[in-house]
Amino acid sequence: MSLSEQLRPSIPLTDVDARSTPGFDGDMAEAKAALKQIRSELAELQERLYANGLTGDHRSVLLVLQGMDTSGKGGVIEKVAGAVNPQGVAITTFKKPTEDELAHDFLWRINKALPAAGKIGVFDRSHYEDVLIVRVHNLQPEGEIERRYEAINEFEQAYVEGGGTIVKCLLHVDKATQKERLAARLEDPEKYYKYRPGDLDERAVWDAYTEAYQLVLDRCSTDIAPWHVVPSGHKPYRNWAVATLLLEALRDLKLEWPAPPFDIEAEKKRVAAL
Ligand code: AMP
Ligand code: MG
Repeated sequence: MSLSEQLRPSIPLTDVDARSTPGFDGDMAEAKAALKQIRSELAELQERLYANGLTGDHRSVLLVLQGMDTSGKGGVIEKVAGAVNPQGVAITTFKKPTEDELAHDFLWRINKALPAAGKIGVFDRSHYEDVLIVRVHNLQPEGEIERRYEAINEFEQAYVEGGGTIVKCLLHVDKATQKERLAARLEDPEKYYKYRPGDLDERAVWDAYTEAYQLVLDRCSTDIAPWHVVPSGHKPYRNWAVATLLLEALRDLKLEWPAPPFDIEAEKKRVAAL
């Protein structure tokens, strides 16, 4: 069974052990080594995707990362997206919407950030914030929030029909792990910058977030764009798992090197005559 199938949401989020390692048998040193292996295959498949994009192939891949503070969205970007040529990746971090963004539909800023043909897009937070933080803090009327789940499904379907592949990852941590990681940030001057006092306010409504995430999994895990729940209590497993999900998605594209848009023999002659 593929890792993608293994990590589909099948039990309530509250029952998922954040320190489990589904699909991986070894210890964490082995998970780090396994990731190293994957990084080179990721790099090659990304280059093929990019090469095909230059010659009219419409396909692109979008990695969506969601998770509570300290779940490791930044770490995944460094270890997984960092494996490939930076020219082929477009990373977008979604913060609190600006006034301009709020004046538009919630998908307006998301649509603008979709990866172009040949690229891997990475969303550090995403349109799902519009049914997560927005739901938890009642930032929109209930009717508007309810409407959004289906709007998201339709939006993702349109992206897939246009040649996109979506890999959605919920980096799942438990409260104890988050406390440990928040505490670590306050012990290390090199990590102070990651600590925001406001993160504690989000932690205070942890259960409401869990409910909001459960709704996301229930309503927006579709056949064309399923969610994956990635236990993220062990960083090496988390990085390996997301890299593997991305790798499986790229392998499924069966990317060949594109035929050149010119006559090779004719060009060889021209170069020989230089
Ligand atoms: P961070 O990623 O830790 O720098 O924090 C970014 C903040 O922006 C988080 O608190 C997000 O929940 C918030 N944010 C992102 N998207 C939205 C949104 N659509 N509406 C409200 N807040 C958002
Ligand atoms: Mg943060």
